[in-house]
Amino acid sequence: MKISIIIPCYNEESSLPPFFEELNKVTESMSNYEFELLFIDDGSSDNTLNCIKNFAKSDERVKFISFSKNFGKEAAMYAGFCNCTGDYAAVMDADMQDPPSLLPEMVEILEQGEYDSVATRRMTRSGEPKIRSFFANAFYKIINKISDTNIISGARDFRLMKREMVDAIVSMCENNRFSKGIFGWIGFKTYWLPFENVKRIAGSTKWSFRKLFNYSLNGIVSFSDFPIKFSTFFGILFMLASLGTLVSGLVNLCVHEYFPAPIGILSIIFLCAGIQLIGLGIVGKYISNIYREVQKRPQYIIAQTNKEDVVKK
Ligand code: UDP
Ligand code: MG
Repeated sequence: MKISIIIPCYNEESSLPPFFEELNKVTESMSNYEFELLFIDDGSSDNTLNCIKNFAKSDERVKFISFSKNFGKEAAMYAGFCNCTGDYAAVMDADMQDPPSLLPEMVEILEQGEYDSVATRRMTRSGEPKIRSFFANAFYKIINKISDTNIISGARDFRLMKREMVDAIVSMCENNRFSKGIFGWIGFKTYWLPFENVKRIAGSTKWSFRKLFNYSLNGIVSFSDFPIKFSTFFGILFMLASLGTLVSGLVNLCVHEYFPAPIGILSIIFLCAGIQLIGLGIVGKYISNIYREVQKRPQYIIAQTNKEDVVKK
């Protein structure tokens, strides 16, 4: 049984040596398993690549892929999934915030056979700036309200999964990748393993506020049609307002035999706004359908079958 560990690295020269030492300790304790340690250098500008090459000299389990520039963690993880060869695969950060020591327990849970993946979630956000926690919590609340895909708050990308699940992730070939959503969208049975938040061992986080904002916006657009429905909702609201003002004008006409001109104008303005917003919603719906088509997501994902030449679409 072979386990692939995918490690995305961007300017991690100071974290990598202690991380590799810890990973070695953990893998030594799991002598029944073969390992592939797949480092993805995401266009680092420091000594990260040389560091990985040094690991590879003394350890033939170490494989690496180095990008021509920084493409982001999502691209690094995708490259890892596309190129790993293990029966099981795990993504693990290089800064020890995804503790390698959890690996034996995760493998044990998968080996029991009931689950297809073991994912980790941190129970607290201690050690993180308060403002970042606030926006992160707000983001999870919003996206879970407006998307069918369940995106767990505090979930890390650190998870161990079976080959079937890795193949499903590879089949999701969309360019705007949001892995937290993809893991949920593809389904499969996931066991959630809670753990205490750990501080980064060295260096600093690669996420600026702007990057996080764009990342969360991307997550919402990739996994929800809600922003488009929003315009239709307001359109309907304006239509109702137009009807309301018209009725109040007509009541006035019956009672006082006079239709106030401002009410008539207001009703026409509301009607025009409503028509435009509903029109925008309809156009938006077509655009969202086109977007779903070009994402080319699979029509279905098979978890198990006893048919050898099963068709995957
Ligand atoms: N990372 C990457 N490319 C990037 C940014 C980050 O490969 O553009 C890697 C990074 O080296 C680390 C992991 O992704 O191994 C998580 O990054 P970070 O610790 O900065 O994120 P945080 O833990 O703060 O969410
Ligand atoms: Mg980190």
